Amino acid sequence: MWNAGRDDALKKLMLYYIPFTIGLHTHLPELGTSLLLPPFATFAWNVIGYYLSQVLGSKTHNPRPSRQMLLCNEHCSTCASLQELLEQLYVPVQDFCPSRKTQEHFIDTIYELGDFISFTEVTGGRLRVVKHWDFLNSNRWESRLKQARDFLKSIGDDDFIEQLMGNRFKDLKVALEGKSRYNYTAYE
Ligand SMILES: [Zn+2]
Repeated sequence: MWNAGRDDALKKLMLYYIPFTIGLHTHLPELGTSLLLPPFATFAWNVIGYYLSQVLGSKTHNPRPSRQMLLCNEHCSTCASLQELLEQLYVPVQDFCPSRKTQEHFIDTIYELGDFISFTEVTGGRLRVVKHWDFLNSNRWESRLKQARDFLKSIGDDDFIEQLMGNRFKDLKVALEGKSRYNYTAYE
């Protein structure tokens, strides 16, 4: 059901499969059936498993780190440090001192990432780069965890999820504690 590149599979998951699963959960009982019964159970089992492994990750591993790759083809060290900042999940702000030669290029780079970061000049030559709140927050474990819990809640309570996930429920619990990433392999 994921037969596509990872990006496409994630898009499918977030745009179609998740809303569809939640819709099934709401409407199947009206039709006298349930998400816990075949063929829906297998489908939901896969959606949840894939979500946990590809979106939730663990405390120390964000499976979807900042996609904002720098468009620097000058291999400069300032951009390399900026990339590191983007990948740091908990660092909101950092100062940079690009050389006079690279300053203009560095500022252009920051403008290109204007949806995610902005900068102010602190002193001559020293630039303070600040991450926008929603960008910083969306990468954090707490926010991924809340999203996952909300998703699971919209499918059913703990007992329901346990029945649905069967012997993988234990792994789901571990993933929600952030201890280790859910190891998903498709079940057809
Ligand atoms: Zn650069």
